[in-house]
Parts: sequence; structure tokens; C-alpha cells
Amino acid sequence: MEINTKIKYSADERLRITRKITLAGISVNIFLAIVKFLLGFFGRSSALMADACHSLTDLSSDLIIFFGVKFWAAPPDKNHPYGHQRLETVVTLIIATSLASIGIAIGYEAIEKIIKGEVSQPMPITLVGALLSIVCKEFVFRKMNAIGKKINSPAVIANSWDARSDAMSSIPVAIAIFVALLKPELAFIDSIGAIIVSVFIIYAAFSIAKPALSEVTERAASEDVLAQIEEIVRSVEGTKSVHAVRTRHMGGGIFVDLHVEVDAELNVKEGHEIASAVKRRLLQEGPDLIDVVVHIEPFEHETFQGNVI
Ligand SMILES: [Zn+2]
Ligand SMILES: [Zn+2]
Repeated sequence: MEINTKIKYSADERLRITRKITLAGISVNIFLAIVKFLLGFFGRSSALMADACHSLTDLSSDLIIFFGVKFWAAPPDKNHPYGHQRLETVVTLIIATSLASIGIAIGYEAIEKIIKGEVSQPMPITLVGALLSIVCKEFVFRKMNAIGKKINSPAVIANSWDARSDAMSSIPVAIAIFVALLKPELAFIDSIGAIIVSVFIIYAAFSIAKPALSEVTERAASEDVLAQIEEIVRSVEGTKSVHAVRTRHMGGGIFVDLHVEVDAELNVKEGHEIASAVKRRLLQEGPDLIDVVVHIEPFEHETFQGNVI
């Protein structure tokens, strides 16, 4: 059987788009990290300085994607005959794990601050830093998320949520600074805001990890997708029945292998033509399929009992 691949965007296009949006995200993060750190340091806001550190950790995941994408967009080779897309899954899990660690660290630090009663009144300029961060990161999130969905890249979508959690984490920071500016005796609210932020971050980490974990554990495609695949196969002329449809995700696409029963009296050439037609139709009309393997069997009048024969 010939090897044939089809994704809505070519690997080259995905690579180019991913690098462009990731580079934009990196630039914004570097800018915000520097601005927030300087404002936080000279404006005496430990919350804003913590937020600056958050931007730096965001930056590390941007850099993984930026340098990683060229590896997983590489075409299949001798060592990786199914392609390298699963690297993207690994990177997604690394991002999710680091996000969860950041969330736990922020929460821990905030609780520690409340217990120790370490509070200081920030300068008004720090509020500008927090507001600037919210606006910039929300803009980056929307842009990145839309592009990630368009090119169907879990890593870019994961990274966009990183930007959103960064924007979210700046909201309690802004409120805390605002309250601390109005009433210095309420400066501890800063730490309560940080605990809320840490919960957001941990939640985001789990939602990012979920699809990647489904992929690593080779969870099948949804019922809808399976039904769609079977319907396409049945519509191909010469197929008597289809069974043992197995699917698994890889990067943004799906690998599928299935058994097709054809008239037992056909010769090898005729059987192969039907198998090729099934594959062609699935790659053309199927839902984001990367590759299809068709196994041909003689049609028998028994119903399939669930075993892969
Ligand atoms: Zn062939
Ligand atoms: Zn079979």
C-alpha cells in the first residue's frame, strides 16, 4: 500500500504559523516580564514581582514550542516511520506539568505570606504594570487560541491557555494592589488573590493535560468520528461490511486501521483496488485522518463477534 498523508494545513504551513505566533508570544512575555519586574522591584509590590516570574515561566514553555516544532513537523523517517507528531504530545505534557508546579508554588507562597504576615504597601505605578499585563496577555491568548484551533495544534492551544492564565493571574494582582493603595491595613488581600490565581493555574494545567493523556493512552476517537469513518467506508463500492475499526490520535490527527469484507471471489488486484478506494475516500472526506491501513477479508455471512480476526 502506498503511504499517503493529508492534514488541512501542510506540515510546512503549520511550522511557519506556529513559529510566527510563538515568536510574538515570546516577545510580549519578555517585554512584560521586564516591565513588571522593574515596576514591582522599584514600586515595592511583591505581587507584581511574582507575576513577572510567572511571565518568565510562560516564556520557557514558549521557547520549548519555538524550538520543538521543527522536530515534530519533520517528515517520517527510518527511526520514526509514523512521523514525529507525538513529540508535540510530550511537549504539551511538559507544559501542563510546569503550569501545575507554578500553580502549587504560587499557592504555597501566598499561604506562607499570610502566616508570616509579610506585607508592604506598593506604589501606585505598580497598578499600571498589572493592568498592562492583563490587556497584553488577554490579546495574546485570543490570537494564539484562534490560530491553534485553525491549524489544530494542541501545543499552540496549550500555550494560549498559558497566556490566559497569565492574564488571569494579573487580575487579582491588580485588585490587590488597588486595595493595598486604598487601605494599607488590608494588604493581606494580595495573598488571598494569589491563592485564587494558583487554583486557576492548576485547573488550566489539568485541562491542557487531558487531551495529551488521552493520546498517550491511545484513547479511541469519539463515537461520532467512528460512525463517520464507518459510513464513508460503507459508501465505497465493493465493500460488503466493515469491522475492527481502531483509531488513535497523534498530534492534531488520527491514525485509523480497519477490516473491510469484500466478495470472496475477487482476485488480489480487484481487492486491492477496493482497499485503495477506501483509503482515498477516508483521507479525502474523513475527520483529520493522517493515515489509513485497510485489511481486506472475504465476505462471510456471519456477524462480527467483536474479536479482531
Ligand atoms: Zn497498496
Ligand atoms: Zn476481520
